[in-house]
Amino acid sequence: MAVARIDLHTHSSCSDGTDAPAELMTLAARAGLDAIALTDHDTFAGIADASKMVPECGVTLIPGVEISTSHQGITAHLLAYLPDLNSPSLPDLFEKTLQARQQRMRQMVQRLSADFDISYQEVAQQAGSSPIGRPHVADVLVKAGYFPNRSAAFEQVLATSSKYYVHYQAPDTIYAVQQVIKAGGVPVLAHPRAGGRQRRFLSVGTISQLKEAGLFALEAFHPEQNPIEQAEVSEIAKLLGLAITGSSDYHGSGKPNQLGQCLTDPEVFAEVCEKGAGTPLRP
Ligand code: AMP
Ligand code: ZN
Ligand code: FE
Ligand code: FE
Repeated sequence: MAVARIDLHTHSSCSDGTDAPAELMTLAARAGLDAIALTDHDTFAGIADASKMVPECGVTLIPGVEISTSHQGITAHLLAYLPDLNSPSLPDLFEKTLQARQQRMRQMVQRLSADFDISYQEVAQQAGSSPIGRPHVADVLVKAGYFPNRSAAFEQVLATSSKYYVHYQAPDTIYAVQQVIKAGGVPVLAHPRAGGRQRRFLSVGTISQLKEAGLFALEAFHPEQNPIEQAEVSEIAKLLGLAITGSSDYHGSGKPNQLGQCLTDPEVFAEVCEKGAGTPLRP
């Protein structure tokens, strides 16, 4: 039997991906994947629709989420796999983040509107019921003809180094790991070294504190971490006794990342399935 192909980080249109959850499952099957995790930003909204497609697509679904966090002013994304979806601890976090995201987006649009003819209303409409983020303002700028695609909009006006960028208050990373554990989920630090030189990263000391709080793994293999960065993340994981994962962070047409571009080892996947309170949805 061929080695299982497992991609543990994908986004649907319930956050800032461009494919509906059901469509994402179809595309995962077409990409030859055996299992995917749906990890929309700060919401479980896509899981029900994706799960309905499991039998038809023959792809195992791991319910998950990517939680926005920050620690001492440094942004960090925390993946959580197989939490108890009825536990209130994570939805409580999401609610606070949602409000912070809205407030921050009003400020960003205010700054942008000095140079671009866009309104908060348009961005909110673009986001719909999804947690509002920079990809949605990118989409509005693209629709208005200012940029050819999301990537160009990010490069020129939405990067963290841009004068239009506004930081938002997200829950502390250590607290978020604790909440994931409380909800029975498996916490994995997403792309710890992605983003190039303009980004600030969590230190090894902080990652060690996350491990103490229950962190399971680091996402080493990710399209936005080059081989040197992947090796660095793998080194840190080895040093601290953490597992490593690999995933595509697929966002549909919103980003170049392709489904199955990076994969997770089947043995690590088995550990995730065993540790999580929730059950993998198997065909
Ligand atoms: P936010 O949470 O609003 O700060 O936005 C972060 C989101 O923007 C993440 O989902 C990233 O995947 C996405 N993002 C970051 N850089 C880019 C880029 N160059 N092109 C498209 N999406 C990006
Ligand atoms: Zn995203
Ligand atoms: Fe992320
Ligand atoms: Fe992501």
